[in-house]
Amino acid sequence: MDKQEAKRRMEKLRQEIDRYRYAYHVLNKSLVSDAALDSLKKELFDLERQFPDLVTFDSPTQRVAGKPLKEFKKVHHEERMLSFNDAFSEEDMRDWMGRVENYLGKKIKDEFYCELKIDGLAIELVYENGILVQASTRGDGIIGEDATQNLKTIEAIPLRIQIPDSRFQIPNRFVVRGEVFLTKKEFERINKEQKKKGLKPYANPRNIAAGSVRQLDSKITAGRKLDSFQYDVVTILGQKTHEEEHELLKKSGFKINPNNKRVKSLEEVFEFRDYWAKHRDRLPYEIDGIVVIINDNKVFDDAGVIGKAPRAAIAYKFSPKEATTIIEDIKVQVGRTGALTPVAVLRAVSVGGITITHASLHNYDEIKRLGIRIGDTAIVSRAGDVIPQVTKVLKDLRTGKEKEFHMLTRCPADGSKVIKEGAVHRCSNKNCGARVREQLYHFVSRAAFDIRGLGSKIIDRLLDEGLISDAADIFTLNSGDVAALERFGEKSAENIVREADGHKKITLPRFLYALGILHVGEESVRLLAEALLRGKSKINLPADVLKVGKSLTEGELQNIRDIGPAVAKSIVDYFKDKRHQELLKKLDSVGVKIEIPRLKAKSSKLKTKTFVLTGGLESMSRDEAKEKIRELGGDISESVSKKTDYVVTGGEPGSKFEKAKKLGVTTLTEKQFLEMIQK
Ligand SMILES: [Zn+2]
Repeated sequence: MDKQEAKRRMEKLRQEIDRYRYAYHVLNKSLVSDAALDSLKKELFDLERQFPDLVTFDSPTQRVAGKPLKEFKKVHHEERMLSFNDAFSEEDMRDWMGRVENYLGKKIKDEFYCELKIDGLAIELVYENGILVQASTRGDGIIGEDATQNLKTIEAIPLRIQIPDSRFQIPNRFVVRGEVFLTKKEFERINKEQKKKGLKPYANPRNIAAGSVRQLDSKITAGRKLDSFQYDVVTILGQKTHEEEHELLKKSGFKINPNNKRVKSLEEVFEFRDYWAKHRDRLPYEIDGIVVIINDNKVFDDAGVIGKAPRAAIAYKFSPKEATTIIEDIKVQVGRTGALTPVAVLRAVSVGGITITHASLHNYDEIKRLGIRIGDTAIVSRAGDVIPQVTKVLKDLRTGKEKEFHMLTRCPADGSKVIKEGAVHRCSNKNCGARVREQLYHFVSRAAFDIRGLGSKIIDRLLDEGLISDAADIFTLNSGDVAALERFGEKSAENIVREADGHKKITLPRFLYALGILHVGEESVRLLAEALLRGKSKINLPADVLKVGKSLTEGELQNIRDIGPAVAKSIVDYFKDKRHQELLKKLDSVGVKIEIPRLKAKSSKLKTKTFVLTGGLESMSRDEAKEKIRELGGDISESVSKKTDYVVTGGEPGSKFEKAKKLGVTTLTEKQFLEMIQK
């Protein structure tokens, strides 16, 4: 992105973020999810780092959220209430550590205090002579709202503090900070009631918590069972670590989160974070990450404040289930039933911990409903195991260069007319989907590209989700996209991608077999390979096959032993077809490479002898046995006839064995066969 483009994008991002923040913090209305907002902020933050001279003083990255409501009495916090900067990855965390050490000019061999980051509302409590005299919201950090009446209705907040720690005296004035939140259960209960009253349900527990605390009528607050943890002691009592503050809070009668933990290294921080990312569903309240604080209060104070946040603390967030990204293109894929699925090609984005590049748009009506254009900024979400969805387009971020998408009128697989059935566009050729599917099964089969792990069921799913619709697509699969499919683990997704990647190199006969040319079976591909290599052109790439293949004539082909007129015609027709030409080009562009096996026999020991194999061999695979026979100059045939010289019978020989006996053809046991090829 050049500077002019960046500048325009940054302006749009600032406006959009500000609009959302105003709605959220002042009007208590949530227009987009926190994750989507975070995603936009991250994009702005990254652009600001790239172009530091474009940072403006009113940038949302420079400001603390919230303006006090006019209706509430204002409270001037005696010490500014800060918030936290965000980290999303281990790399971000190491960068953070580097910045702190850089600032302090020394290495930190310190402990960290890890806390669960609850999706709630920050509050401050002031006690005088042990009695709660004031409870306020954060507001803009300096001036908050006096919500004493409302916060007093929360049972988890002590109205009087008692038990002094023997090391500390509870002073005349005691200021602590914490969080007010709503449990998941209470959230559900309130939303059920909303529904009963015919009102819109709340988007998330924090909305209700915030809304409840800022009610003008404290009876409403009391009717919603809010909960609260305290996590910070503002008053200086000589506490040396953050952990001590938590002990002090507990002994004074405050509710603290029992899951918080002191750890000794960043590695342990990562473990703590990973544990709770996995087990967050067990908690009775929502968390969106952890807060990591340098435990030593002296180091914490020395590190000071940067912008709106303490330098020595950071919010290490879980991978968001929503993110914003750019829709770079819309592709139309043919599914296994011939349905045409539009698929959004996305700028790579991490959603729920995996990187995705595609999202199904389901059908054309869905594109119209969401108003999607190519080039749009969109919210992509992935809840639980569900496939990534484009849930919203941020139209205010448009530049005017976005393009509308129109449904194809011709099927991309076979060029047939496209018809519409209900919401679904479909290829008018009833066999189209089935043929696409069969071609893919064939392409990955053992005698072709031999991509294990890509069974027919998985191919069907990849087709249905629009992740593949031709053979070349198999080599561009992204493990994140596959992992995003329901019941697909990250491991198995990675295996499939690795397996496909490991099979990009293929011998010429196997490659030709994989193409599935009509009448050209496992045996005749060897003849076709010979024909292609006769011209002495180098054949290393699918494009070479295309070039030489297009030049073949039926006459030339028929000069080759065992190639009849039907096979010759079918080969010539194949290379003439535009769609096949496109596929070969595409296979070339995704990096398929062709190897030339030794086609000439090593010796002529078995020359003029024709073999048929039946049943499985113990010492080698059937392919290996065929390879051996060919190396020695022999031929392979699929069926037994009078011309057959030997039938090699492995375990459980079938009808071929019976036929050999009937025709009086010599049969060989595996042992006899091995002796014959070893001599
Ligand atoms: Zn079609």
